[in-house]
Amino acid sequence: MSSVSRRRFLALAGSGLGAAALVGCTATHAAERTDAAAPFPWGATPTGTPTPVPTPAPTPVPARGRELVTLLKDTPWAVEGIAIHSGKPGPRVMVLGGVHGNEPGGWFAAEAIADWQVERGSLLVLPRVNWRSAAVVERTLPEIGDINRAYPGNATGAPAQKIANAIIEVGRDFSPELLYDLHESWVFYGERGANNGTAFIGQTFSIGAGASDKDIDRLANVVRTVNGQISSREEFYMRGAATPRPGVQVVPQNPNQQPQNTQRPTPPPNGVTFSGTTSLSLGQWIKRCVPILVEMGQQDQAESRRSALHQMLVRTTLQQSGML
Ligand SMILES: [Zn+2]
Repeated sequence: MSSVSRRRFLALAGSGLGAAALVGCTATHAAERTDAAAPFPWGATPTGTPTPVPTPAPTPVPARGRELVTLLKDTPWAVEGIAIHSGKPGPRVMVLGGVHGNEPGGWFAAEAIADWQVERGSLLVLPRVNWRSAAVVERTLPEIGDINRAYPGNATGAPAQKIANAIIEVGRDFSPELLYDLHESWVFYGERGANNGTAFIGQTFSIGAGASDKDIDRLANVVRTVNGQISSREEFYMRGAATPRPGVQVVPQNPNQQPQNTQRPTPPPNGVTFSGTTSLSLGQWIKRCVPILVEMGQQDQAESRRSALHQMLVRTTLQQSGML
């Protein structure tokens, strides 16, 4: 059962509860934390208890404000996040950070993004999905498993399965059109030489299952815009487009690997099978959502710069969507 129901998101609409549910989200660094079992691993403990209010006629636009979101509440695997509502209609975007605990550029970026305010639509950020692993800067822990190989997950499975399943549930409730999953690799893709594998895909921007040609055009424009503002070494390669887009370097398609430019299922997504258990498969499980997996190169690139580049990609996307 989802710990965050659609009703809860919608219950904020026009009720003023959004303000009551306001919480601080001061970022804390993994290295500063020693209490890995604390209930709010990436930020301040929220104060105040939302008061249930009757909402006989929910509207589709939540009131402007910030809402604490808890996945797997009251379990050892609880994951905290923030829904940031503009109070106006507009796109919905979801951001995952810290799925792998040894990729801090992604989670620091997500924590910074969790402090943003959007002016249209809504933003949902889960800054440290795998916070127990982030607390010890390990990719993951044996008792958790790899969340980014666990989709669609299982509510009664191992912790990684439970968390993956909960991300899909909250995604279905929130209904984002884009989902960013912020990761890090080691070697820059452009410097990989003959090497292959996930340690050699730094500075890649992968578009997952379900993206249409129009989605890819739009995301290519994000990559093109960001690439125009950074050094040539830092430039992102796009993965997941069957046809290259002008001015954007691409990772050649391998038909045996995710991501693939698979057309959005119609009607989505029941009964349609894509391969893959990474977040690039989330378009299969969250209706009308295009997943994007960013891998930032760690080799000879400062953590602060990695975080800044992650933020540039998300900020540019929100700006081009009219959300900022
Ligand atoms: Zn990763």
